Amino acid sequence: MHYETDMSLGKKLCLNCDYLNDSKELTCKQCGMKVYLRKPYSLSLTLNYVIATSLFLIPANLLPMMIITSLGIDEGNTIMEGVSYFLKHGEASIGIIIFIASIAVPIYKMTVLIFLLIIAHFKLHNLSILGVKLYRTIRFVGKWSLLDIFVVAIMIAMVQFQTLATIKAGGAAFAFALVVVLTMLATESFDPRLMFDIERRKR
Ligand SMILES: [Zn+2]
Repeated sequence: MHYETDMSLGKKLCLNCDYLNDSKELTCKQCGMKVYLRKPYSLSLTLNYVIATSLFLIPANLLPMMIITSLGIDEGNTIMEGVSYFLKHGEASIGIIIFIASIAVPIYKMTVLIFLLIIAHFKLHNLSILGVKLYRTIRFVGKWSLLDIFVVAIMIAMVQFQTLATIKAGGAAFAFALVVVLTMLATESFDPRLMFDIERRKR
């Protein structure tokens, strides 16, 4: 397959609004965002953010998300324990939302980003279109990233109403906030146009 890219046409595509600018433009004529021919250090930055995110995913899932103090006894709950708590206590929808927002979505995003890095690094041109489609899904999900933080707030509010206990955020909450921010940075530093440049360079 043969693709024309913005670069091959002497243009700069705005990744924010999809407007094709002249290659001499530094900011997008339509939306005013900075435009780059290609994002600088895209692959190495994305790789670094992906590694950092994967490292923080471990404490985010193993440390307690919240510490409940009831009758002077501290009790910690990891994300998965929180999910199973809500499933067992007839609040399945909250359990499912927490599972999707805190476990399924970050793992999906990481998997896609690793896949995109492999396509771009090993120049797997047959997979570049699939790669762009997957990239769009994680950009779309990214818009809902704050959902994660909402979920933690809801979780804390609900438990506080139900019991006479005090609740503090555990270590996982901090690790999890970092996961959310680092995943956003990883997605933003990846330049999807790199996947089409593979095809151009081949010719
Ligand atoms: Zn624009």
